[in-house]
Amino acid sequence: MDAEKKLTFLLENKSLDQELKSIATKVGNGERISEEDGVLLYERGELGYLGVLANFIRERKHGDVTYFNRNFHIEPTNLCVYDCKFCSYSRLIKEREDGWEATMDEMIGVVKSYDSEPVTEVHIVGGVLPQYNLSFYMDLFAAIKKHRPDLHIKALTPVEYHYIFKKAKVDYASGMAMMKGAGLDSMPGGGAEIFHPEIREQIAKDKCNAEQWLQIHEVWHRLGMHSNATMLYGHIEHYWHRVDHMEKLRQLQDKTGGFQTFIPLKFRNKDNQMSHVPEVSVVEDLRNYAISRIYLDNFPHIKAYWAMISRETAQLALGFGVDDIDGTLDDTTKIYSMAGAEEQHPAMTTRELVELIQQAGRHPVERDTLYNIVTDYKDVIFAEDSADKQSRYYQLPVLNSK
Ligand code: SF4
Repeated sequence: MDAEKKLTFLLENKSLDQELKSIATKVGNGERISEEDGVLLYERGELGYLGVLANFIRERKHGDVTYFNRNFHIEPTNLCVYDCKFCSYSRLIKEREDGWEATMDEMIGVVKSYDSEPVTEVHIVGGVLPQYNLSFYMDLFAAIKKHRPDLHIKALTPVEYHYIFKKAKVDYASGMAMMKGAGLDSMPGGGAEIFHPEIREQIAKDKCNAEQWLQIHEVWHRLGMHSNATMLYGHIEHYWHRVDHMEKLRQLQDKTGGFQTFIPLKFRNKDNQMSHVPEVSVVEDLRNYAISRIYLDNFPHIKAYWAMISRETAQLALGFGVDDIDGTLDDTTKIYSMAGAEEQHPAMTTRELVELIQQAGRHPVERDTLYNIVTDYKDVIFAEDSADKQSRYYQLPVLNSK
């Protein structure tokens, strides 16, 4: 049954709660839901109901298309001047011997190691340390662009930018313009956590606040550039904090239109100061993806990081509003594994990603960071295992001639 028929079937269900029916009607008519509706969905929306609504929106926007990209990460350091309670990744400066601090040459060496690989994006994010300052990052971006001009640099979050601009005594507008001039192409969505101060002050109190996070994205969007947004969910927040968080994003998106993708990030409780807080269930993960898709009507994409939630949950999420599962990664990030994700060495070949999407009945499309289509894998079959078998990246897919 297609997504529209499922929604019609749901609306004809006489036993459906009237308030849930009213929200489903809004979704069917393409109307925006209110903050009260959002909270009600979290409190009373069952998984099946939410899935019908979210999948209706997902298929209206993208059909069966599911995006992924070919990327790698550079994490300059895991030392950090901040001490976010949920963070399993960072070490304080006094624990320097437990951490790493990559030099400019080492980072350029990582970029060069992909010279023969058809990757389209480098994602740079890590801890906050004084030596990684404004001039360091400008030099790094410029050096990457000089070496490989076509590689899209998606780097740093308002947490880093707020810190380095303050140290350099430049305002957000000047600072972001300097970053753009140096070669920054887009911003990832991290550092958002939960915006509401009631929660933010308990879990991430020293770094940039919600207003600063939103301002830096707004400034970036006003330069004609794009970024993503995240929400760290499933810890000490209440449902209304999640809705408040998404409402702030929805309002900024109405003003600028610069966000591409919303990425719900599941709180993982391994080796951090909140290890006593239990993790939420997979059912709650799927409900959260679905409500994000329903609430953020002006966001083009909802992404699930397969490396964070497992390949199986990522497949399930494709039926609950998600249309993007991120990239090949190539075991270049430790952020998820150190927080306790099932994937301890996250890396997938193009073929594995394509097959993962196809197994879920969806249509795989490789995108670049800005969602331009790189390769449409709808009618692609891979050659039987051959000399390519060990390759991490398939250069030339074989077209199905039928
Ligand atoms: S979440 Fe980011 S800012 Fe906070 S401690 Fe970890 S690395 Fe530092």
